[in-house]
Amino acid sequence: MEWLQKFMYGRHGPDQLSIGLFVLFLILSFVDLFIRGPAYLIIELLTVFIAVLSLWRMFSRNNQKRWDENQKFVTAMQPLSRAFQQLRSRWKDRKTYRYYHCPKCKATLRVPRGRGKICIKCPVCKNEFIKKA
Ligand SMILES: [Zn+2]
Repeated sequence: MEWLQKFMYGRHGPDQLSIGLFVLFLILSFVDLFIRGPAYLIIELLTVFIAVLSLWRMFSRNNQKRWDENQKFVTAMQPLSRAFQQLRSRWKDRKTYRYYHCPKCKATLRVPRGRGKICIKCPVCKNEFIKKA
């Protein structure tokens, strides 16, 4: 494996954008299985282009430019990543907490489960409402 270390020395290597491109590659490869006709060829070419682009980025020696591209990608994906993290924590807490939206300001509120009917006070707008927790 020393030859690989020597080969990769000074090269950019994998990053979040590479992983994103790989996921897109997998999705398009899967979609490609169900498509026929000219659309198949277009998606096939796109899939190959994405694979080549991903490899080219990993083996690139222009680290500053690849780093800038990756930063733009990470910034653009932040809302999606935040939504995914929120879903994950909601799933983890599903047995101990309930989530409600404030009827006035629509803020998401987390309250402990199994307390019966409770009065929830929104910390954002101070609105109070009654729910079963
Ligand atoms: Zn509120």
